[in-house]
Amino acid sequence: MTAISRETILIAPIGDFDADILYAVEKMVPRIFGMPCRIEPLLDDIGFAWNAERRQFHSTAILAELSGKAPIDAFKVIALTRKDLFIPILTHVYGEAQLGGTSCIVSTCRLTSGISTVGQRSLYLERITKETAHELGHTFDLRHCKDHQCLMHYCRSIGDVDAKSSQLCRYCEVLLNDQLKREGRR
Ligand SMILES: [Zn+2]
Ligand SMILES: [Zn+2]
Repeated sequence: MTAISRETILIAPIGDFDADILYAVEKMVPRIFGMPCRIEPLLDDIGFAWNAERRQFHSTAILAELSGKAPIDAFKVIALTRKDLFIPILTHVYGEAQLGGTSCIVSTCRLTSGISTVGQRSLYLERITKETAHELGHTFDLRHCKDHQCLMHYCRSIGDVDAKSSQLCRYCEVLLNDQLKREGRR
């Protein structure tokens, strides 16, 4: 038997990101998921996912590309982009994940809504970490949660994002721990 080598959650920024954004996500991963993480870009050009009609990027196409590029030690991949993302049935998405799969992505594009990303920096960082935790949760097979305070609550608006806490509810935490055990992580 060989030991499982996929030990890390990879944070893969697409393009340049301020260090404090990456640092905030880097702190969130062990806090919520109890796993180590590291930062390593996997994609720099997402032109293949561009939809000229909508003038947005199709997130599902990016997820497939990320999973194909994930290094051997990466258990999950969280990509970050500043570009606006969509899936065909919605006008835009804050992010998307492969449910129970490898990859997820979060766009910071709409998370700036209604705030100054300089003057309200901590609120901006909070939005980003909430959404990355939410999408990463989906890769651990967590579904949407009815609890408005829970990280896995589905947010229709930026107000919903601000209203939820930075924690999983007790129910989702149990589901996550079960999943981590199932995958040999706990
Ligand atoms: Zn979701
Ligand atoms: Zn929950």
